[in-house]
Amino acid sequence: MIEETGKIPQATAKRLPLYHRYLKYLHESGKERVSSAELSEAVKVDSATIRRDFSYFGALGKKGYGYNVSYILDFFSKTLSQDKQTNVAIIGVGNLGTALLHYNFMKNNNIKIVAAFDVDANKVGTVQQNIPIYHLNDMQDLLKENKVEVVILTVPSDEAQTTVDRLLEADVKGILNFTPARISVPKHVRVHHIDLTTELQTLIYFLENYPNK
Ligand code: NAD
Repeated sequence: MIEETGKIPQATAKRLPLYHRYLKYLHESGKERVSSAELSEAVKVDSATIRRDFSYFGALGKKGYGYNVSYILDFFSKTLSQDKQTNVAIIGVGNLGTALLHYNFMKNNNIKIVAAFDVDANKVGTVQQNIPIYHLNDMQDLLKENKVEVVILTVPSDEAQTTVDRLLEADVKGILNFTPARISVPKHVRVHHIDLTTELQTLIYFLENYPNK
């Protein structure tokens, strides 16, 4: 999804959505420029890191002026593929899958959940939030038909790998894996794991070991 990031370090690329969201807000409020100190305060990234990140894509802030908001926003929109729609599918419409269907990335016009898949006869054939739920057996054809290359995986963990194997046959390129299963994929497929327990444990660790003064 991130294009032309050959020279941008992965840690920087990961912060782009954070910067993008705040710059979009500034742009919509009519603000034309922003300093790295203001950005730092808003996105909670130190200003030296912001200046280094921004230097990777040629945005050099001027002393006393800061950064031009529309210039950077334009760059981000292109880099993050915000100017084209990415179709996404949800695999497994249980507690978590249903919550994500209802959320459907409302604040982002460029990511759209277009289909969902399950094996439960009570769910297959229904429509939730205008999103049709199909049977897993139809997944390969429908993903290709709907040009879906990114999926969110919310099936039970013991079903994760077999489901992923079927996803690979449908040429899926990116998987957001909510299951605790460690899944195997070929090198050209990217898997990002989301684990709320680890995130909470990290938060608790930081609260205990680095309390704010
Ligand atoms: P759930 O049991 O409510 O839902 C699972 C759904 O998947 C059901 O609708 C079921 O019919 C469907 N399903 C089963 N096999 C399938 C298959 N092969 N293909 C498609 N659909 C299939 O479970 P949940 O609470 O929504 O959790 C879903 C997954 O997310 C689990 O693996 C769980 O461990 C994980 N989870 C992760 C986090 C996190 O922080 N990452 C938090 C909660 C749950």
